[in-house]
Amino acid sequence: MSKLIPARGYAAASATTPLSPFSFERRAVGEKDVQIDIVYSGICHSDMHQARNEWGGSVYPMVPGHEIVGRVVAVGDKVTKFKVGDLAGVGCMVDSCRTCASCREQLQQYCEPGATFTYNCEDPKYGGQTQGGYSDKIVVDEDFSLKIPENLDLKGAAPLLCAGITTYSPLRHWKVGKGQKVGIVGLGGLGHMGVKFAHALGAHVVMITTSPEKGADATKLGADEVLISKDADAMAAHANSFDFILNTIPVGHDMNPYVALLKRDATMCIVGAVEPWGAVHGGAMILKRRNIAGSVIGGIAETQEMLDFCGTHNIVSDVEVIAMKDVNTAYERMLKSDVKYRFVIDMATL
Ligand code: NAP
Ligand code: ZN
Ligand code: ZN
Repeated sequence: MSKLIPARGYAAASATTPLSPFSFERRAVGEKDVQIDIVYSGICHSDMHQARNEWGGSVYPMVPGHEIVGRVVAVGDKVTKFKVGDLAGVGCMVDSCRTCASCREQLQQYCEPGATFTYNCEDPKYGGQTQGGYSDKIVVDEDFSLKIPENLDLKGAAPLLCAGITTYSPLRHWKVGKGQKVGIVGLGGLGHMGVKFAHALGAHVVMITTSPEKGADATKLGADEVLISKDADAMAAHANSFDFILNTIPVGHDMNPYVALLKRDATMCIVGAVEPWGAVHGGAMILKRRNIAGSVIGGIAETQEMLDFCGTHNIVSDVEVIAMKDVNTAYERMLKSDVKYRFVIDMATL
């Protein structure tokens, strides 16, 4: 029996305590596993939702983090995709049942018994709880590890593993492209990637934001127009004009002002608000055959496709690199939308 691997990270001990240093163990490297020394780990708003038990069911101690990039330091005997020294990434999932209809369609994020998420998840195969990327190392099945194009800036590549795929997948699913007017709601970690991808796919991109001061940045990121959602006149001027809207607002909110922006038959995809959505006016949906949809991350194959697309188009996230000890301050700043546009932890500071 091979020995467990000692690891260090930062964990939440409860919903109300700040994250603090934590020692734990990673499993021994199995025949299909890669061991990755983590170089950067992005901070997703979902990390804070779960560390603070805002979605319920959180289990502690919890090491958050699912935007992981690093170098492979060991591989199992049957690993074929990676060798020692390669760059590798890990996103929101580390395994799935592999046999249900969704897994067979490469949509492991919709695995019917439930995917094994990177942290805060019971591990059906190895037991215990999974622990995430705010740590020095991780051991993952190669089938759930991603190849990172070597030309990408590594710190900016980390957020692609969640913010990147979560925005790329719906834009592709709803076939966003040239000749379409696309709205991205919320200029945060997800939203800024949504703007970059929608622009790269050739759409006319409108940044829809509550923060007028972010307008100039939105334009630099690739937005053709900026729409301030609190300005009722400006919203009215854009009514019935959008082919697709990607809504990244992290909390429940009134959807009606955004629904009114959609053309007949158009879709708004929600990725942020997991809570009940509140009343949406039936007439606004029925009389224009509009759609409201949801989407969660993306499958492993599509995540690799997204990373390769980023390699080709040289797309990375705009990041502010922080030291591990500053993670709690970063959470508070993220709550105030005070980040341009993703915090990334430099794991050398652990
Ligand atoms: P973030 O960096 O905090 O950005 C959210 C942005 O939404 C803010 O910058 C702000 O943009 C806007 N916003 C915040 N509060 C708002 C409010 N009350 N009303 C209107 N707009 C508001 O968060 P993130 O990391 O991008 O994550 C966004 C959400 O997606 C989170 O809930 C996260 O858990 C979720 N998520 C979902 C998936 C998935 O697979 N579905 C994956 C990852 C994350 P402006 O200043 O421009 O208005
Ligand atoms: Zn995330
Ligand atoms: Zn499955």
